[in-house]
Amino acid sequence: MKKIPLHRLILWVFMGGLALVISYFVLFPQVWYCQWIDFSGFKKVNQHLYMSAKTPQRHLDKTNESIKEARQRITRLWGVPQGNAVVILCESTEEYYQYCHSSEGAGCSIGTPWGTSFIILNLDGLNVDVIAHEMCHDELFTRLGWWTTTRQIPQWFNEGLALMVDERFVSTTDSIQRYQAYKEACLSVSRGGQMVLDLDEISSMKGFFDGNETHVILAYMTAGTEVSRWLTNAERKQVPLLISRIKAGESFEDIYRRLDKD
Ligand SMILES: [Zn+2]
Repeated sequence: MKKIPLHRLILWVFMGGLALVISYFVLFPQVWYCQWIDFSGFKKVNQHLYMSAKTPQRHLDKTNESIKEARQRITRLWGVPQGNAVVILCESTEEYYQYCHSSEGAGCSIGTPWGTSFIILNLDGLNVDVIAHEMCHDELFTRLGWWTTTRQIPQWFNEGLALMVDERFVSTTDSIQRYQAYKEACLSVSRGGQMVLDLDEISSMKGFFDGNETHVILAYMTAGTEVSRWLTNAERKQVPLLISRIKAGESFEDIYRRLDKD
């Protein structure tokens, strides 16, 4: 067999790597924009906060306050926060679309395979609920990494857990009352249980978000009901335990069920 010269092999590997990087950014342009936020014209408030150049200065105090309070909620659920996402505060829907690649919702979070993460907020997202919700996604991502989160964590768990720090739908923090409130909300959205979503149906992003408004709200309420039910059994201290077991190689399914019974 003819030997391939080393310099050619290196060139091929380099070209292959380059093609991979380019196609990643073509598929996910929002990651490119977030990654290069320093060159965007956004104001750098600190290493973890960027604001649109159009954002009035008075929003800064509110943002800082909301971030602080959101971190307290994360601490209650997770213990000391490990998430370190860069927050990007947008002023217009165009900016939000550029960084989030969606015009839906008030906030979104993006985690990259190389470990950096971003929380993008539009003006409606400038409040504790939205920031805590996105921080909870980021906390999960930071602790498990992109690969494990993508492969192992069902979307209903990711969203349901985020609802535990997001009080837009249910505001009580008492675990039993919270579960009952989500159950009632679920019944009301499903018109007394006429529509039911199976957890399997909402375990992928597509299954969770593809559908009309009623489907998406019912998906959130179903996720909120399931995770709040689980937390009444498993207690909040079990969230870090669940994560550490997954990191140790156990499957989400197994450990989630086992903690449910303990
Ligand atoms: Zn979410």
